[in-house]
Amino acid sequence: MKIENLKESLLSLHLKTMAEILEQTLKKAEQENLSPADLLLILASQELAARQQRRVKNLIAQANLPVIKTIDAFDFSFPKTINKSQVMSLFDLHFVEKKENVILMGPPGTGKTHLALSLAYQACLQGIKTSFTTAINLINQLSASLADNSFLKTMKTFTSPRLLAIDELGYLPVDKQGAELLFQVISNRYECGSMVVTTNRAFRDWGAILNNDNTLASAAIDRLVHHGMLVQIKGESYRVK
Ligand code: ADP
Ligand code: MG
Repeated sequence: MKIENLKESLLSLHLKTMAEILEQTLKKAEQENLSPADLLLILASQELAARQQRRVKNLIAQANLPVIKTIDAFDFSFPKTINKSQVMSLFDLHFVEKKENVILMGPPGTGKTHLALSLAYQACLQGIKTSFTTAINLINQLSASLADNSFLKTMKTFTSPRLLAIDELGYLPVDKQGAELLFQVISNRYECGSMVVTTNRAFRDWGAILNNDNTLASAAIDRLVHHGMLVQIKGESYRVK
């Protein structure tokens, strides 16, 4: 009876794992003659571990990763040019602590999305709120939100994560409104949160992909690279291989 009461209290306190393992842990404590402090330590640490696991699971679900990619599966010998130590150094995610950006630049199929996904996944594992999107999806969502008065709420989904990955900048041209919306995200996040941007286009071409607005393109590049690292990849497409 006492145990049932205790279980209920734990559940009311949202200590679900403690409630779940209460009986078996009490038994273990009796069998192994554990001190009350040891018993509590087991219960608390199991609760904490389960919570962390749940948090990571939620972060991964909320990050909208189209697939899970890991850096272990990345073959550094495939691209003709890539700075392995530069890329590997990103995976401690200090750049997220420092609110810095990463720009992954290279031709199609060279693993830019793979690396961006791996960084986003690693961030989730480390408990960092992350969001993964494409440039076009970001623009489409913000454009749609202008129509139904949910702009601020939608903008917040792009500004609140500590890490925002924007994939595929440059594949599709964007119109004036699109370019301005994208710029607003970059500008809102500047010095407030990290971005990982992948692009198949050199900086000098960004004007052309942003509605031929060179001023806006320079302002965007300025904000991205001021506290940012450029990772350049060269080589053949892995898809063709
Ligand atoms: P990009 O975004 O540069 O166009 P992707 O990252 O989408 O290229 O890569 C295309 C496919 O090839 C993906 O399935 C990716 O996992 C794989 N890939 C690309 N480069 C590598 C690599 N160096 N090692 C392992 N897989 C790779
Ligand atoms: Mg890609």
